[in-house]
Parts: sequence; structure tokens; C-alpha cells
Amino acid sequence: MQQLRIGGMLVGYHGLCPRKAWLSAQGLWMEQESDTVALGRHLDATTYTREKKGYDLDIEAPGLNRVRLVGKIDHADLDGGVLHEVKKSRAAEAAHEDQLRFYLWLLRLAGVTRADGQPFTGRLDYPALRKTRDVALSDDDEVRLAQTVAGIATTLRRPTPPPRLGPERRTFCAACAFEELCYG
Ligand code: SF4
Repeated sequence: MQQLRIGGMLVGYHGLCPRKAWLSAQGLWMEQESDTVALGRHLDATTYTREKKGYDLDIEAPGLNRVRLVGKIDHADLDGGVLHEVKKSRAAEAAHEDQLRFYLWLLRLAGVTRADGQPFTGRLDYPALRKTRDVALSDDDEVRLAQTVAGIATTLRRPTPPPRLGPERRTFCAACAFEELCYG
């Protein structure tokens, strides 16, 4: 059985559209050229430069065969015990929260805590909007994330992509790099 690597981006995508997660995991990846993603990367590169950067996590998924959970935490305030995730807009805030909770979960699975033994918390930063949103990880979130990861593994092991989103959710498609592939 093929080993899967599931990261926070796939968790966010899967919540929006399982097909998007499948296409991304297959390497049919086109958002590298997207202006939106480029701006997001620019914000990443230019914000919070005084904080610690670049932590890689790679953990075996609990209860799943040949699934690794991976994450690259771009910014962490170690003294304050806060993970930061920088985003451009709040258009997909629920997916952003899922992605950040996923990273908090990885830290918990890895046994990483603040110096005082308390768990890390998360903060979504929207510098262009001058807004932040605090995100915490509850026990229920952990259960839900474990179920989500199992669902993503099932999706990624499909031989063919999941169906396109229905018309009631097509607003996501307008901003998706796969729109032409799905509807062109
Ligand atoms: S265009 Fe729509 S259906 Fe296709 S992958 Fe993107 S969000 Fe999903």
C-alpha cells in the first residue's frame, strides 16, 4: 500500500472540496502560478520576521496504516506558546482554522508543549486586514481531526477523483486553481 503524507493544506482543501485535495495530492498542482497564492507567500515571507521560523513536523498518524502527518510551521512565538498562520483574506476562514488546529494537533501528538507544560495555542493573522483570530484545540477537535485524516486517506487512495462540487458550493470554484480542469 502506498504511503500517504497528509499536511495541513490538504486538511484545509478537503474541508472545502475533496476533489481539490485529490487533485493536489496527485501532483496536478497549479496554484504555484496563482496570484493569490503568490501574495500569500509574500505575506509569509515579510511578516513576523523577528519570530522563530521553519519547524517541520512528521508524525505517524494514530490508528492508520502507512499514513504520515506532516506540517511546516512557518512562524512560532516560542515564549508565548503561539503558532502563527498568515493568511491573505478571511474567505475560507473555517479551512484556515482547520489547518491551524491540525498543526496544534501535531504538536500535541509529538508531546511538544510550552515551557510551562501548557499546550500551544494558534493565531490566524490577516495582516492585510489588520485582524487576528485565536484558535485553540479541544479534545473534540482531536477526535474530529482523526476522523478527518482517515477520510482524507480514503479520498487520496481513490483511483479516480471525487465528484465536482454541486452548484450550491460553486463559489469556491471561482477562486480555485483547478476550475479550468473541472469545468473548462
Ligand atoms: S474547481 Fe471546484 S470542484 Fe474543482 S477542485 Fe476546485 S473547488 Fe473542487
